[in-house]
This record gives sequence, C-alpha cells and structure tokens, in this order.
Amino acid sequence: RTGDAPRRISILGATGSVGTSTVDVILGRPGAFEVEAVTAGTRAAELAEIAIRLKARIAVVADPSCHGALVEALAGTGIAAAAGEAALIEAAARPVDLVVAAIVGAAGLAPTMAAIEAGSDIALANKECLVCAGSLFLGRAEAAGVHVLPVDSEHNAIFQALEAENMPAVRSITITASGGPFRSWTREAMQRASVAEALNHPRWSMGPKITIDSATMMNKGLEVIEAHHLFGLDADRLEVVVHPQSVVHGWITYADGSILAQLGAADMRIPIAHCLAWPRRYATETKPFDLVSIGTLTFEKPDLERFPALALARGALSGGDRATNILNAANEVAVDAFLKGGIGFLDIAACVAETLDRLAGGSGLPDIDSVAAALAVDGEGRRVARAVLGGRRALRTG
Ligand code: NAD
Ligand code: MG
Repeated sequence: RTGDAPRRISILGATGSVGTSTVDVILGRPGAFEVEAVTAGTRAAELAEIAIRLKARIAVVADPSCHGALVEALAGTGIAAAAGEAALIEAAARPVDLVVAAIVGAAGLAPTMAAIEAGSDIALANKECLVCAGSLFLGRAEAAGVHVLPVDSEHNAIFQALEAENMPAVRSITITASGGPFRSWTREAMQRASVAEALNHPRWSMGPKITIDSATMMNKGLEVIEAHHLFGLDADRLEVVVHPQSVVHGWITYADGSILAQLGAADMRIPIAHCLAWPRRYATETKPFDLVSIGTLTFEKPDLERFPALALARGALSGGDRATNILNAANEVAVDAFLKGGIGFLDIAACVAETLDRLAGGSGLPDIDSVAAALAVDGEGRRVARAVLGGRRALRTG
C-alpha cells in the first residue's frame, strides 16, 4: 500500500464507545479512508447514521429484529443493509487493510477471527478475544500473516515503547490502572454500591461492561491476560500499578535499567489513531495535554483483598486458555446481572471464583483449538455462572 492511497477499513461495533471514537478519528482525516463495513449489535438508526457519515458500503446489525429499521434508515443511500450472525461474519470477512475489532465480549470472537482468516490486519479493542481464545487467535493471526495492533490504551502504550529487536532485553512490562470509582472504598461500602456509583468512572468514558470491569479491577486482570498473549511474557513479569491520574498508560523496564513509558490524555482517540496510522502517525483533535497543570503523578500497589478479581485473573492465566475463557464467561454473566440490579457488586468476583471452582478451571472441558470449541467452553462457563447466581438468589430470598 502506498502512503497516499486511502486505507480500506471496517469497524465491528461501530456504535459503541471505541466504535464512535474510531468514527471521529476517521472523519478527522478526510480522504484517508475508504470504509467497507460498519456493524452493531442493535441500534439500527445510530448504525445507519454512522454508515452514511462514513460512506460505508454495507451496514450490518447482529440482531435480526433490527433488520427492518436498518433497511428503512438506509433506503436510497446505496448502502447495503443486512442482519444476523451470518451476515455479521460475512461483513467481517470482507478483506480490507484494517478491521477495528470493537465489539464487547466473547460475541466479538467469531467475527474478529473471520477478519483474520480474510487476511485483514486487526486493530484490537475487543480484549475478550484474547481472554477466551488467546493462543488460537494469535496462532491464526500468525498463520494468516496479519498484524494485531493493540487499541487498549495500556497495551498500545507498551506497543509504542517496544523495540522489537530488544524483546529479549525486556525485564518486565507494567500496565497502569486508574483504580476506578472504588479505589479508596471499603469492601462493606462496595457491597452496597449502586449501579450508578459503579458506572461513575473517574477518568475514562467507556461502554457499561468495561466500566464495571474497571470498578472491580477485572479489567486489569483481563489486561494482564491480554498482555501475556500480545507480548509473550509470563505473569511474573507483567505488573499492575494503580495510577489514579491515568497519565502514564504503561512502561517497559529493559535489562539495562532504562524504562520507556507512554504518556497522554485519557482519550481513546489517541491509541485508535496510533493503530489507524501505524506505522506512521496522524494529528488528532485531542485537547492540549499539560503535565505542569496536572502537577503530581502518584503510583500505588493494587489491593488484592479489596479487588479479588485481579488475583482471580492471574490464577486463571496460570491455568491456561480454558480457565481464562471460563473467567471471562462468568464475568460477563455476573456483570450483566449486576447491571440489571440482580446481584451486589462484590458478588461479581464471587461468582467468577465459584464458577472457576465448580468447573475445576476447565480441566474437564475440550481444548480450545477452534472457534467452536472456544464458544462451547464459553457456553459451559455461562451455564455454570447462571447456576451460581441462581443459587445465591435462592439463598437470599429463601
Ligand atoms: P460498547 O458497549 O460501548 O460498544 C460495544 C459495541 O459492540 C456496540 O457497537 C454494540 O452494538 C456491539 N455489540 C454488542 N454486543 C454485540 C453482539 N452480541 N454482536 C455484535 N455486536 C455487538 O463497548 P466499548 O466500551 O466500546 O468496548 C468495546 C471493546 O473495547 C470491549 O472489549 C472493551 O473491553 C474494549 N475497550 C474499550 C475501551 C473504551 O474506552 N471503551 C478501552 C479499551 C478497551
Ligand atoms: Mg485498558
């Protein structure tokens, strides 16, 4: 691809938080992109508006009941409309230069894998792909010769600080955590926390699932697993530091004692623009960033007693892909139940722990050697997590 030809791009999860930030970056570079497909789970009207603004070729909504609304909203635009899981995968498999994978949860695995099989490079926001099937995912990416560029801000920071030729001299990788809204809360207060309090993230504006994951710090646990797969380091060389200002996103400690970090505003358009421009850089419309006005940067150790999800994720990482897959499945079920008001905040991590226990870390389940196998283990994790939560509700009301 020559430097000046438009990059062909698709966005999976275009209506979400990362999706709309991606739309912003693209609209800020007129002529730099040709958009092939945009997709969403539901919300046909928002998806249609994005498709029209980006002049996409096709818009696909996963929920078949939204098909009519999408067709209507795109009538006369010349943009194709489709719905359903098969159409989503077909759209993801249209070969382009770069697919932005910004669906939330394990639901993103099959479409993102289809994009890999089609030979498209991936800008990966959907970290759950790596948590549910990391070895398979990156194995297929390598076989297909595609690049997987990390959008997740901490991993993007590490990617920026990485000198590939000095990989053997990497002593450790550190990712930072804001600590979320409950950084200084007691466990008693956390158990009574409302959904609104858990959704009130101090630094980042994100979709609801990852915002709850930030409050439990499961997000950082998922990110340790993500970093293990992306950078090939064992868990004992992957560190997490709580840094409430969210200015330093991550750093690499090299064997010679040098530390290379990446800093910037807590604005996802920065790592997204980095992936979209890579290996070059684009100008973005982000606010000027002034370290002097920020003044003080602080760093603390995470508290694994108040935030057990982080320890659970590390434990699952040592258990392998089936264990991390179950961790993710149980977490998705529990976060959904919390958001619907069905369980308390601390029940999220308790449900994940109990599900992993009941399934013995997945040791009796099939190896994750295909997308179907990954989804089968995920299904089993969800089934057991629902049973765990059902038992809790029965205990409470009974
Ligand atoms: P979001 O909830 O705002 O958006 C999710 C998108 O996925 C939407 O377009 C939605 O329609 C689509 N979607 C949901 N369920 C679907 C399904 N079953 N089938 C097809 N499409 C479906 O989420 P987000 O905050 O943008 O996060 C997206 C991913 O990026 C997550 O994996 C998250 O962990 C990761 N991430 C997000 C941020 C952030 O700042 N928001 C930062 C780092 C990583
Ligand atoms: Mg992150």
